[in-house]
Amino acid sequence: MQKYTAILGLLLAVTGCTGLQKDQVDETLMAKNGYAISTSEQAVAKNNRIRFLVLHYTALDQQKSLEVLTRSELVSANYLIPEEPTAHKGLLVAHQLVDDHDRAWHAGVSQWKNRSNLNDTSLGIEIVNAGWDQDTGQPLGMPYGERQTELLISLARDLIEKYDIQPTDIVGHSDIAPGRKIDPGPFFPWKRLAEAGVGAWPDEPTIGDYQARFSVTPPSMMQVTKALQTYGYGYLDQGLEAVVKAFQMRFNQEHVSGVVDIKTAAILFALIDKYHGVEKARDILQPAEAAALG
Ligand SMILES: [Zn+2]
Repeated sequence: MQKYTAILGLLLAVTGCTGLQKDQVDETLMAKNGYAISTSEQAVAKNNRIRFLVLHYTALDQQKSLEVLTRSELVSANYLIPEEPTAHKGLLVAHQLVDDHDRAWHAGVSQWKNRSNLNDTSLGIEIVNAGWDQDTGQPLGMPYGERQTELLISLARDLIEKYDIQPTDIVGHSDIAPGRKIDPGPFFPWKRLAEAGVGAWPDEPTIGDYQARFSVTPPSMMQVTKALQTYGYGYLDQGLEAVVKAFQMRFNQEHVSGVVDIKTAAILFALIDKYHGVEKARDILQPAEAAALG
């Protein structure tokens, strides 16, 4: 082996292979308009612009959704999932309205994990659905469709892999703008998405453990606030109720009340446990566990 390496080294030295051959093109050098760019040296300190995935419903029918999202000068989204997706060669078709590397205008005033203005760092997916009525708690139209959900899962999984998006960074519009936005609402199939690898979901046994613990000693409001903040929620200084509602729309859909009941608190701490570690959950619950839910 050593001998071959030596011979190869000698050959390289003789033929002068360190430079470019006549017919080779240096792909790291590109002629531009009146100058040239070299990409032969690359930095390591960088990350993707895309860090979050934000899911929405349009609250409009198919035609109106496309019309508004393509013609409005105020709102847009990177992708649109039709109500009844058509198929092309056996594949369900989603619309891409804005390139991944461009900012679509879907999030508005928003916060997640201490970042604001999520348009800068996210991709927005709009799903055609009529939405729900906050007063009655009822849906305003048909539920999210089977093919629609299938298509959303395929698209989201592809984007998650492409941009290495973490489960806790897949959020609803209501999560990043609590009180201001209520989409994709409490009828959105978050659990099914999580089972398909899209977004976070707590483990049932862990929820049970925290439920048993909290029915004896409930966490204080301060501890709940700290846990919500640790998970990613912002705007906690503007009132807990709206944030708790957003959290329930996502993880405790039968109880969207804005009130922190034992189950909601157990789900929250099960999430912290799973995605931030049991140490973090313990840390938040230390030292005063005495204060009751108010
Ligand atoms: Zn939205």
